[in-house]
Amino acid sequence: MHNHHSALGLATTQRPVQPVTLLRPHAAHRAARFFAEKFPGKSLYAVKANPSPDLLRVLWDAGITHYDVASMGEVRLVSETLPDATLCFMHPVKAEEAIAEAYFVHGVKTFSLDSYDELLKIRRATKNASDLNLLVRIRVSSDHSKLSLATKFGADPDELTHLLFETRQAADALGICFHVGSQAMSPAAYSDALERVRDAIVSSAVTVDIVDVGGGFPSAYPGMEPPALEAYFDVIHEKFEDLPISYSAELWCEPGRALCAEYSSVLVRVERRRGDALYINDGAYGALFDAAHIGWRYPVKLIRAEESAQELAPFSFYGPTCDDLDHMAGPFMLPADVQPGDFIEIGMLGAYGCAMRTGFNGFGVEDRVVVYDEPMASLYTGAAEQAGASNVVQL
Ligand SMILES: *Cc1c(COP(=O)(O)O)cnc(C)c1O
Repeated sequence: MHNHHSALGLATTQRPVQPVTLLRPHAAHRAARFFAEKFPGKSLYAVKANPSPDLLRVLWDAGITHYDVASMGEVRLVSETLPDATLCFMHPVKAEEAIAEAYFVHGVKTFSLDSYDELLKIRRATKNASDLNLLVRIRVSSDHSKLSLATKFGADPDELTHLLFETRQAADALGICFHVGSQAMSPAAYSDALERVRDAIVSSAVTVDIVDVGGGFPSAYPGMEPPALEAYFDVIHEKFEDLPISYSAELWCEPGRALCAEYSSVLVRVERRRGDALYINDGAYGALFDAAHIGWRYPVKLIRAEESAQELAPFSFYGPTCDDLDHMAGPFMLPADVQPGDFIEIGMLGAYGCAMRTGFNGFGVEDRVVVYDEPMASLYTGAAEQAGASNVVQL
């Protein structure tokens, strides 16, 4: 992997033909330190947001010791990359073989579930192990989030009391977990969900050892500027302290996006302009899946040695494949004179961006370069620091 001082330095000296993923380890380190120091409990990194081994090592070095994994592939990847990490298998629907390998080969003791069938499966696969942490996932509202996770998983309310009771019998430590949906724009998402946890504890009368508030912590994108993360942590802490649980109960969270969104961006080249549509060399089958399919907006910046004096204008992007779906509507705001041969940095692609790349149509090549300038937006720097950074755009 190469190093460069900045996106601009790379674009002007190398003029890369393929899209380049720009990595900012300092930004991921800063995010991880923030959670490690300020979240009033334990932070598990949700590996699906970005499973790059280089990122996993950055997070580990910054003090993230627990990892939320969801598949056999992620279990193996994290055990190989970080042999001393604690893995938590937090997918509520698992293959029995995956549970057995996780438990017997990789020492995984923490599993989530949302049905009685899954509880029986975990018991069979671990040969009725008595040292399990079992977390029951409850269904909560995704009303405050940009991406819903409210329908696929979560125990049926009718079954919940029975499921908590049965899981209590099987578990060494019993937990309750939920996911408020990704990019939760208000701390109220967590206070509402913790009310559901309270209801569940009261009606089932079980002793709960772990409360896991899941992921959903936001990052900053154009038109989506969330409140400070401290406001989320304060609400969660207050609601947690108020729950009818034992003094020694643990609070966990599973941030994905918030820990890695700032870690990478992509430097692309404009191959053609047709009116306000730019044909660029990365797209829906590369790092821009969410931009194409759910209209997610990312910050963009024209990377030219001499800054354009033109006003910003709205553009849409076409990706490089021959598929019509390879289209990102934006709007992406760029100087009106952007033209073929120009480089554009698309920011905040560290979460659910670079992780989604495919090789479709022969466009999967990805160069990776470490840079030391600031990400285009950050929830972890003061305003003064941001103002001094060359490529920070006003969102
Ligand atoms: C995806 C996922 C996360 C991470 O969600 P973010 O919105 O990226 O923070 C956490 N926990 C579980 C169980 C998930 O599926």
